[in-house]
Amino acid sequence: MNDNVREVIIIGGGPAGYTAALYAARANLEPLVIEGFQWGGQLMITSDVENYPGYPEGVLGPEMMKDFRRQAERFGAEFISDDVTRVDFSERPFRVYIGDEEYRGESVIVATGAEARKLGLPSEQGLQGRGVSYCAVCDAAFFREKDVVVVGGGDSAMEEANFLTKFADKVTIVHRRDEFRASPIMYDRARANDKVEWITNAVVEEVIGENAVVALKLRDLVTGEVTEIPADGLFVAIGHDPNTKLFVDWLDMDEAGYLITHDGTATNIDGVFAAGDVVDHTYRQAVTAAGMGCMAALDVERWLTAKAGHPHEALAAPRDPAPA
Ligand code: NAP
Repeated sequence: MNDNVREVIIIGGGPAGYTAALYAARANLEPLVIEGFQWGGQLMITSDVENYPGYPEGVLGPEMMKDFRRQAERFGAEFISDDVTRVDFSERPFRVYIGDEEYRGESVIVATGAEARKLGLPSEQGLQGRGVSYCAVCDAAFFREKDVVVVGGGDSAMEEANFLTKFADKVTIVHRRDEFRASPIMYDRARANDKVEWITNAVVEEVIGENAVVALKLRDLVTGEVTEIPADGLFVAIGHDPNTKLFVDWLDMDEAGYLITHDGTATNIDGVFAAGDVVDHTYRQAVTAAGMGCMAALDVERWLTAKAGHPHEALAAPRDPAPA
């Protein structure tokens, strides 16, 4: 066990966690960031980020996360690149574990993000990494001059399909409805792409192949007809789930598993705060996650100084009640 009790432990190393770390470090809280083995979050599997303010020419996702991390480090944030395996929020200081190693914090910020949803087919799992992928940016180059399928009807599916056409000969979007929830600009871009073909009202029922994907079995949801189409790859782009399994015994969640916060970033446990995609299923942007990470650090600082009996010392002024 580490004798040292931290003022704040931040769980998660994406835009929310690193921004919380930056603000907490600048408030002299010496944050410990348990950032995950695959630190950086979803931006590590993103190529060009063109909508983060301050980068007029765009920036590569992994480069941006390295910058976020370096900036927090400059002010004294400490990092552990490993996964939290268990938490115990029954009393303060809170306990956070990596295997048998215990870390204690007076407060905790949860910023564990979200991850790609799977179709849930046994054949999908069997061929993951052998033609089945959840990240076009990571794997598209393996499909040069091949035929691939993208499943989904949202912005991710459109973006992945367009990106894949830089490499693949043909990209077929398979969607379970004939209406698309993708934003018009993303949808129109995919529609205008000659290499993109469309199959609607259909789902993938089976991924066929021994050591590599060779075909997909599709079921038409209107006629019930099952057909087989040749494909060298399957890219699943059907949304994300929050990483909240660690907290089921402790923190309030909605039916989709996203953490519920009140009064800014507070959770149902006094002293535990949450920020980023683990809370937010609406905006899900790097900039909104970063904004929430900032809020969580300010809330923590305010909370710690109030506990210590001198709330006026918080960098962020104590909140006045809203005008009536
Ligand atoms: P999403 O908007 O939730 O779309 C998920 C899609 O997958 C939907 O079309 C859904 O079908 C389909 N789907 C879900 N479960 C399925 C299943 N089991 N089998 C088959 N299809 C399934 O998710 P997203 O596309 O990842 O986007 C998430 C958020 O990020 C959105 O707010 C989006 O605007 C944003 N985003 C933005 C950009 C960008 O601007 N560059 C890029 C990517 C994402 P139904 O429509 O029938 O429900």
